[in-house]
Amino acid sequence: MKKYLIILLSIIFSCDNVQKSDIDLQVSDIISNMTLEEKVGQMTQINLTVIAKGPNKWGSTFPLEIDPIKAKKALVDFKVGSVLNTINNTAQNPETWFKTISDIQKYSIDSTRMKIPLIYGIDAIHGTTYTDGATMFPQQITTAASWNPENAYNMALVCAYETRASGIPWNFSPVLDLGLDPRFSRQFETFGEDPLLVERFGLEMIKGYQGLNNDISNKYSVAACLKHFVGYHATISGKDRTPAYIPDNVLSEYHIEPFKKAIEAGAKTVMINSGLINGVPVHADYNLMINVLRNKLGFEGVILTDWEDIRKLHDRDKVAKNQKEAIKMAINSGIDMSMVPYEYEHFVKNLISLVEEGGVSMERIDDAVKRILKLKIELGLFDNPVTDYRDYPDFGSKKHHNLAYKAASESITLLKNENNILPIEGNPKILIAGPNGNNMRTLNGAWTYSWQGDLTDRFAGEFNTIYESFLSTYGKNNVKYIPGVSYKDGGQYYDMIENDINKVVNEARKSDYIILCLGENTYTEKPGDLNNLEIHQLQIKLAKELAKVGKPIVLILNQGRPRLITDIEGLMNGIINIYLPGNMGGDALVDIVSGKVNPSGKLPFTYPAYANSLLPYYYKPAEVQNNSQGAYNYVGEVNNLYDFGYGLSYSSFLYSNFNTDKDSYNITDTIKIGVQVTNNSNIDGLETIQLYSSDLYASITPDNKRLRDFNKIEIKAGASAFITFNLPVSKLAFVNTSNDFVIEPGKFKLSINKLNKEIIVN
Ligand code: BGC
Repeated sequence: MKKYLIILLSIIFSCDNVQKSDIDLQVSDIISNMTLEEKVGQMTQINLTVIAKGPNKWGSTFPLEIDPIKAKKALVDFKVGSVLNTINNTAQNPETWFKTISDIQKYSIDSTRMKIPLIYGIDAIHGTTYTDGATMFPQQITTAASWNPENAYNMALVCAYETRASGIPWNFSPVLDLGLDPRFSRQFETFGEDPLLVERFGLEMIKGYQGLNNDISNKYSVAACLKHFVGYHATISGKDRTPAYIPDNVLSEYHIEPFKKAIEAGAKTVMINSGLINGVPVHADYNLMINVLRNKLGFEGVILTDWEDIRKLHDRDKVAKNQKEAIKMAINSGIDMSMVPYEYEHFVKNLISLVEEGGVSMERIDDAVKRILKLKIELGLFDNPVTDYRDYPDFGSKKHHNLAYKAASESITLLKNENNILPIEGNPKILIAGPNGNNMRTLNGAWTYSWQGDLTDRFAGEFNTIYESFLSTYGKNNVKYIPGVSYKDGGQYYDMIENDINKVVNEARKSDYIILCLGENTYTEKPGDLNNLEIHQLQIKLAKELAKVGKPIVLILNQGRPRLITDIEGLMNGIINIYLPGNMGGDALVDIVSGKVNPSGKLPFTYPAYANSLLPYYYKPAEVQNNSQGAYNYVGEVNNLYDFGYGLSYSSFLYSNFNTDKDSYNITDTIKIGVQVTNNSNIDGLETIQLYSSDLYASITPDNKRLRDFNKIEIKAGASAFITFNLPVSKLAFVNTSNDFVIEPGKFKLSINKLNKEIIVN
């Protein structure tokens, strides 16, 4: 058997005889006075529609107002401890939030025996989604493309501020799922396919949300919620909430690591994966929630379900014979709080009887409630149950918009620039075409003013669409917009209609450049499931018709996942992926097109060329099998359109002098790696230097390569920079079939750009 070295996981031991903190004492004091009903109420989270005027269902069109009868029943009689979401599926202004949450807290505090404040939670995932006037940053996938984690920090910092300005202290963000499937409807909510990118950006999000010392009582901080633990995107079908089959070693090495690091950084809460792994719904998985999340990762905070997921153990997954059994399974497997969110009476009554009958122990209930109370105390809710929007002068300010602009402009990724067609300087005649050319909705994606992002144009009128940004840069007389094809109003997100392709073609003949804005309409979760990864046929048709005109075309991709464009890629002279860049995306794009900003984004995922070749860059060598006999042509090669980490600049960077301090290392060593990067152009630029390693032989087939570090720096025109990385040998580990992180002695290849060197680990 091959010799290997096990890297010990740092296990956080909880020590019984450590002195209890003031907060723990306060929690014990409160809990010792609570009835079972009060405890179960704390474990219950309801949707705002439950206590608001109008129907208690998704899509209620009533304006937001608390219904006193419903509120008394839920918050006072049933002692419910948490509320989430907005009403009318739409954004409210900060004043309405303040009034609503103040009203709610009156029931929870003034009219109950224990006077425990309620905790309000919301999805504010790229800015404060449900607040009118909030700053909308790029979505996570876009931010990851900046390869500058500071942008994630800025987003989270502003988002925490503006979420607190909306009276809300708990944010269901960041998403630490591995975005490894371009088909999945939520890839845009992730930091992409690479575990290290997810980890680095995730850590910055925690800092931004919870503050540098995790003091969430600070009125500018919110409690973060890591989601969706774990393996949510690795489904077989590529559709939301469908089965995944993931071996333990794969789960540990790729999916759990970013959560582990965020937990070590102090993240306060975790939301569970709404799907199932190896046939076990994660909400009923004792092993993942207790053995892994609690015991191995040492997570001490609140474990929250996702939407209606206890119900689904019975309704969807058929592992529980009835609702009561579903509750028993989930709570005994480690759930502390149930996002019920509608039929709370059943949840509360069933859980109470389960405790009375012995199906769930009082210790388990106390354990859950302690964590919830601790979170409420840490958030300062007992002292100040609702923060006041008037204390937040920077809400939606220019200062915040500038940070969103910076993130967008550092993320936008230049994929093709044939004959240096870009930047476009001077005063040319420009035709903007395509369905994504003149709306704010597609720039932002879902989770923007509403769940599916369908109302954005109503709220974001003050910001520039792509067309508007081009008008202000190139002048009214030079820029025209004709869509050619459009998204169908009120249809599914993928429904399109052809309107005026001939008109676009005629206008194209009179133009110097065509800026063709294609991509997707907004979606998330089940409504965003996809049957065909190719970009919509009508968009392909538009691109082909325009290409026939013979004028230079720059394709702008405005989409949440890499839709296939292989059919038209060769017809385009330039291609820019803007992903979902947020409200400042139009301005950031035109600054890149006009040359005011030098592009520096790099893909945080592999851009596939074909629907049957969907692989992350860390595929196994067997994906590329050489046809040594020459008898057949194999299609099994990795056919990407663009590689992970790819992105062009207007500068050109030359890599040289790659070296390491030694040729062989011990497991405890740190490898010092250096490389020289020269900006061989007359324009200043930002470059991301990416360090990869490949384990040449291992007891489990090694990955093609793995990102081990990266650094984005500015290099002035004509200048050189010498970049060094300190890579601990322990970072070269993989997880073996015994589920241990190990390093097996042998050869490894380190590479940066096209340079590489083999080293030996003893
Ligand atoms: C989503 C979560 C979200 C929750 C609350 C669920 O459907 O999967 O990501 O936090 O709803 O809105």
